Amino acid sequence: MNLGELIYERLPSWLVERIITIGDAVEDKGWRVFVVGGFVRDLLLGRRNFELDVMVEGEGIYLAKVLSRLFGAKMISHEQFMTAVLYMPDGTRIDIATCRKERYKHPAALPEVEPATAEEDLYRRDFSINAMAIDISKERFGELLDVCGGLPDLESGLIRVLHERSFIDDPTRVFRAVRFEKRFSFSIESNTMRLLKEAIECGMLSLLTPDRIKHEWIRICSEENPQPHILRMEELDMLRWIDSSLSFRSQEQRLALSSIVSVEERLAGSNVSYERWLLYLMPLLDGATNEDIERLCRRYSISSRHLQAFLQLSLLDDVLERTRAKLSPSSLKRLLDRFNTEALIYALAKAISFGESHEMAKEQLLAYLEKYRHERPDISGSDIIGAGIPAGPWIGTALDEALKVKLDEGADRQRQLEVALKTARKALAMMEHGSQRRDTCSWEG
Ligand code: ATP
Repeated sequence: MNLGELIYERLPSWLVERIITIGDAVEDKGWRVFVVGGFVRDLLLGRRNFELDVMVEGEGIYLAKVLSRLFGAKMISHEQFMTAVLYMPDGTRIDIATCRKERYKHPAALPEVEPATAEEDLYRRDFSINAMAIDISKERFGELLDVCGGLPDLESGLIRVLHERSFIDDPTRVFRAVRFEKRFSFSIESNTMRLLKEAIECGMLSLLTPDRIKHEWIRICSEENPQPHILRMEELDMLRWIDSSLSFRSQEQRLALSSIVSVEERLAGSNVSYERWLLYLMPLLDGATNEDIERLCRRYSISSRHLQAFLQLSLLDDVLERTRAKLSPSSLKRLLDRFNTEALIYALAKAISFGESHEMAKEQLLAYLEKYRHERPDISGSDIIGAGIPAGPWIGTALDEALKVKLDEGADRQRQLEVALKTARKALAMMEHGSQRRDTCSWEG
C-alpha cells in the first residue's frame, strides 16, 4: 500500500518538505529511511501530530548529524541506544533511531539493543497500531511497512501486543495500553487483555522503578481528559501497584474527579497555573493518612511543596464549609492564601460535585483563584517609609490594611496610602506607649 498521497493530503506542506529532506539526506548510502510509530498511526487516524519519529536501516546518529546541519537543529544523541533527538528551530522535535532489536535480560529491565532490519525493529514495539512504518526514501516514498497487522487493528479499533511476553518484558506497556485505549476509544484485544490482567495480578508493575511509573502517570495526566484513564486503572486494579494509598475511598472522590475536567475548562483562559499530574492525584489521596501521603512522596521523590499540597487535603472540607457563607474579599484571601493552587482547584471540583448547597463556595473559590490570589496593594513598603515611618514590622501590618481597603472597599492608591500610614502610626504609638509603660514600671520597681 502506498500512502504518498495521504502524506500530501493530510500534512502541511512544510512537514511534507521536511519528510522529503529526511528521506533524501543519506541517499548516497542507500539506507532505507522510515517515519514510524505514533506518527504513522496518527496520520492514518487523521489526528494532528507534527513530531516525526524516524528510523533508518543504517546509522541513526550519522543521519541525525547530517540533518542537524541541514535544518540548523540542536542535536542530542544517546550512543548506547543508537538514538538522537533534533530540536528544530520552530520548536518541534524529530526523534531518529537506528533500526534495532532489543533483548530484555530480566523482566522490566531496560533493554540491550543491537542493529537490525526495519521489520525486526517493528516487532520490538508495544502494540500493532504503533508498529507501522512508511518508507520515505526517494525510491519507495510512501510505501507502508506493516508486518504486525497494524492497519486492520487500527481499522477495528484494537490494541494488540505483538507477543505473549510483551507486558513482562516491559510493564510500562500496561499503562500505555490503557492510555491508547481511552485516548482513541479503542478496545484492548481479548488475548492482550488476558496477558495484561495476568501481568497486573503477578505484580509486574511493582518491578518498575518509581521514576518510570511517575513518567507514565504524568503522560496519562497529559491526556485531554485523564478521568476515564484513571477509572480504567482502578477497574484493572492498577492503582494499588502505583501506591497502596491511592484509591477511591468514597463516591464523593469519584464525583470530585469527574468535576476536575470542568473546572479545568472553566480556568482555561485564566492565568491560573498548576501541575496536572499533582491535581489528578488529589481525589485518589483524599482521605489518606498523613503517614501514607508522606510515604508516597518519599517513594516518588515528590518535593516538599507538593507534599504540603497533599497534606492540605484534610483541611479542604473545613474550607468548603466556611466558604458556603459569603466572606469579604479580604477574609477570603486571608483564609485561602496559605493553600496550594492544586489543592484549591480540587476543593473547587468538590464544591461543584456537591451541587447547589455549595454554590457560594464555588463562586468564592473561583473568584479567589482568578482574581484575589494575585492581588497586591497598589503601594509598597518604600511608599510608607518615604512618608516618614521608620522601617519595622508595622510596615507589613500597614500593607495588609491597605490591601484590605483595596479589596473590600475598592479604595484607590491615595486612600490605601492614608490607611497604611494611619495603621503604621497607630502601631508605632502603641509600641512607644508600651515601652514608656515598661520604663515607668521598671523605675517604680
Ligand atoms: P504519543 O502519541 O502518546 O506520543 P507515541 O506512540 O508516539 O504516543 P512514544 O512514547 O513517543 O509514543 O513512542 C514512539 C513509538 O515508540 C511508539 O509508537 C512505539 O512504536 C514505540 N514505543 C514507545 N514506547 C514503547 C514501549 N514501552 N515498548 C515498545 N515500543 C514502544
